[in-house]
Amino acid sequence: MQITVLGKSPAMPDAGGACSGYLVSEGDFRLLLDCGTGVFAKLRMFCEPNDVDTILITHMHADHVADLLPFGHALSFPLRHLAHRPRLLVPPGGAQRIQEISEVFGIGYQLEQAFAVEEYEPASVLTVGPLETRFQEVPHYIRTWACELRTPIGRRFTFGADCAPNEALPAFAAHSDLLILEATEGTSVQPADDDGIRGHMTAQEAGEMARAAQARRLVITHFSDQLDPEAVRAAAAVSFGADVDLAHGGAVYVV
Ligand SMILES: [Zn+2]
Ligand SMILES: [Zn+2]
Repeated sequence: MQITVLGKSPAMPDAGGACSGYLVSEGDFRLLLDCGTGVFAKLRMFCEPNDVDTILITHMHADHVADLLPFGHALSFPLRHLAHRPRLLVPPGGAQRIQEISEVFGIGYQLEQAFAVEEYEPASVLTVGPLETRFQEVPHYIRTWACELRTPIGRRFTFGADCAPNEALPAFAAHSDLLILEATEGTSVQPADDDGIRGHMTAQEAGEMARAAQARRLVITHFSDQLDPEAVRAAAAVSFGADVDLAHGGAVYVV
């Protein structure tokens, strides 16, 4: 299984970057994990829109779904015949959100016609092409699911989505071959929102989560280019207890 980072930015895209998006391939099968702001243009650097078999969405924040709009447009007005509609797997309640997005932007049923929209059942193990997918709900500002993609020979890639520190994710990601975790808060906890709820992690907390999971490899993502990358890397590495990678557009990981 090969994972290509299309975008690693938090909600404000890095200069020249894109928000959450990862292209996962296993043989001829291609899955797009999240489709945030700017991801569609990056996707086109690696494959044709028609080549994507499945899109999997962790949660319905704009930095994880906004580029479903240009993706849907591309599939609705193709320059060549469409062989299929990609499967669009959204969280519970996501299908309603897709309808609402379509209404707001006045595009009729374009998204529903471009994609085979399907809400996943988080408690079940989902088969997506040759991969098996499991889900774990994680604490964030809206309902959000971390996910695991497992190959037929048992290789595991775990994506933590957006989340505050929690105990569920290390158990879910235990001994994962590749764990990609967010560190939106950088090297120190940012002032909480008015309600005091946290929805993100620091790099140190991401390292602690990965250490608790005994992950084989940790990649830090969803951090701003306004942060000092080496400080982010160092904070995560100290708490993880081993080297970590920082995600960047075009980075490729093989699991
Ligand atoms: Zn989010
Ligand atoms: Zn996000």
